[in-house]
This record gives sequence, structure tokens and C-alpha cells, in this order.
Amino acid sequence: MSKFLLEKYKNMVAYIPGEQPKDRAYIKLNANETSMKPSPKVLEVLKSSRMNGLGHYADPDAKELRTAIAELNDVAMNQVFVGNGSDEVLGFLFLAYFNEQSKICYPDITYGFYQVFAKTFGINGKQIPLKEDFTVDVDAYVKTNRHVILANPNAPTGYYLPVSEIERIVVSNPNRLVVIDEAYIDYGNESCIPLTKKYDNLIVVHTMSKSKNLAGAHIGYCIASEKLIEDLNGIKYSFNPYSMNDITIAIGTAAIKDTAYYKKCIQEIINNREYTKCELERYGFTVLDSATNFIFVTHPNLHAREYNAKLREHGILARYFDSERIQNYLRITIGTRQEMEQVIMVTSLILEELVA
Ligand SMILES: *Cc1c(COP(=O)(O)O)cnc(C)c1O
Repeated sequence: MSKFLLEKYKNMVAYIPGEQPKDRAYIKLNANETSMKPSPKVLEVLKSSRMNGLGHYADPDAKELRTAIAELNDVAMNQVFVGNGSDEVLGFLFLAYFNEQSKICYPDITYGFYQVFAKTFGINGKQIPLKEDFTVDVDAYVKTNRHVILANPNAPTGYYLPVSEIERIVVSNPNRLVVIDEAYIDYGNESCIPLTKKYDNLIVVHTMSKSKNLAGAHIGYCIASEKLIEDLNGIKYSFNPYSMNDITIAIGTAAIKDTAYYKKCIQEIINNREYTKCELERYGFTVLDSATNFIFVTHPNLHAREYNAKLREHGILARYFDSERIQNYLRITIGTRQEMEQVIMVTSLILEELVA
């Protein structure tokens, strides 16, 4: 840290992203990305004559992408805000609405970035513990008057909260914001986007990094009432109007329109998830019921930390969180069938070694 860094940033605790090591070829199952290809339409756009125009700035309103997202979700374009990954969308939200007085809350076990943003921006953030069984304590959110941020389905547990439960939180106090981060909603769950027509204190955040096979392009968006979107565009225009470049606007639009392709990819991930869950259970693992593209697993005789290290020795990266309540759990992203068969094969070897 240099002597010039402002006092207010000295408390920052940076988010630790899933690592991207290049020392050998790994099966990467540590960041909920995918080795599946983006839609062929995306690849076509990248080879098209449009790319000759990169000498010009992109449309700062990203109208093309916002219109496609609006059509897909049956809302108006001015109810859509887009950003450089949902992390940036969340960043703008936190900047716009929360601080020391405008307090927020989120679960103790959830996406780590909420706490990181709170520290970075000097926000009063409170962790509300998940229940003993790792489900969200909805009543606690109904009771508090803090703004709420929830990942639904939650990470790294993989549990999904029905729309009616979210609505219970939203209606309980129209004077506070409820932000629902639906990064994993596409894996067979019902979105609460339709509720944004009824409630002007709800913001629903989506990413194209997971179910659209586009983590490398980093595109995120949120849907909310027109006034909230106007606020966010105001912040963006006062900070970085071109945070979406023309390449990402073009490929994001192509991806949003190719629902048929992604439907197939998502179904494949769900099938592979159920296959992996079933196989791991045969080997004695407990696998939480997942509504996402990852599973959260624990084993009575193999500590998660050791399981993680052994997988790594065999060229497989998973995600271990060294925090109190989940120390004996490992999060494994669901990849292709071939990748998951390798996980099962390697896991059986690790367990055999344990007995020997
Ligand atoms: C992956 C993830 C994000 C970040 O998505 P990006 O669009 O890649 O920034 C946000 N929230 C949750 C819950 C995630 O799992």
C-alpha cells in the first residue's frame, strides 16, 4: 500500500476471484464459468464487418443490447441497465443507494462481493446468518428495515427461494430496496423479474457470465423501475459512459437472441449436475440440492480442504472457502459430461487412497 492511498480505502478487503492458473491445463470448475462455447451467432458477429467500425465509440446507451434484453424479459428498454459484468452493475447500485446511513444486509454465507463492496464504499453492511440448514431466514429480512441484497439461487449453497418468498420481503417495506442477484436463475428456476412491474423497490440483477457461456466478455444487467434505471444511468454517465464497448454490445445482443442454443446448453448442465450428484452420493458425499451450475458437497471421511488439494494435484480446480460454517464443504462447478466423468474418476481414486 502506498502512502498516497486515501484513508477511506485502507479497510478494503479485495475479493479473491477464482484463480486462473496457466502453469498446466486444468479442468476449471472453480469459478462457475464454462468451457462450453458461446452461441455460433456470437462467433459470427465477431467475424462480421461491424468490427471494422471499432475506431468509433460505442453507443453509450447500449440501446441495441438493452432492447434485446427488454424483449426477452417482457419489460421496456428504459427498465434495463447494462454494465461490464454484473459486478459492475452491483457496484453502481451500491454507489447509488447505500452508505453509512443507508444500511444494507445480506446473508453470512453468500456471494463474497457484497461484503467487499460494503468495505470499499464505506457502507454499513450487516450479515444475517443463514439458518442451520443453510436456507435463507426470510422472516429476518421481513423484520429489518435495512435494504436487502440476496443472491437467488444463493451461492455457494445452490439453494433457491421461491418468488412468493421474495415478494414477502419486497412488500414488507416499500421504502427500502430489495436487490435480487439472479446470476443462476436460468438453471431451471422462476425469475422475479415480473415483480418489477408491480414494485418500484425491487432490482433484479442478471449476468451473461454463467448461463450464456460469456464470462470472458463480462456482461451484466439489471431490471427495475424506470426511475431506478435513470439513477443508474446517471451514475454511469458521471463515471464511465463507455463501460460497455461495441464488441460486448454486439455479442451480448446476439447471445440474448439465441435462446434455442442456450436452452440446450442449460439442459446439458442440469443433466450433468444430476449425474454428478448421483455419482458423488454413491461415494458417500452429501450434495446439497442445487438449482445452479455448481454443487456444494461434503464427505464424512474426506475433509473438503484435502479433497480440494487432491483434485488440484489431478488437474481439477474447485472452490474452497475457508470460512467457519462451510469449512468442510467444497463447491464444484458443473462442466461438460467429459469433465464431470473425470471428476468422478479422480474422486474414486482419492477415496481409494484414503482407505489404503
Ligand atoms: C458470478 C456471479 C456474479 C458476477 O457475475 P459477472 O457478471 O461475471 O460480474 C454476481 N453475482 C453472483 C451471485 C455470481 O455468482
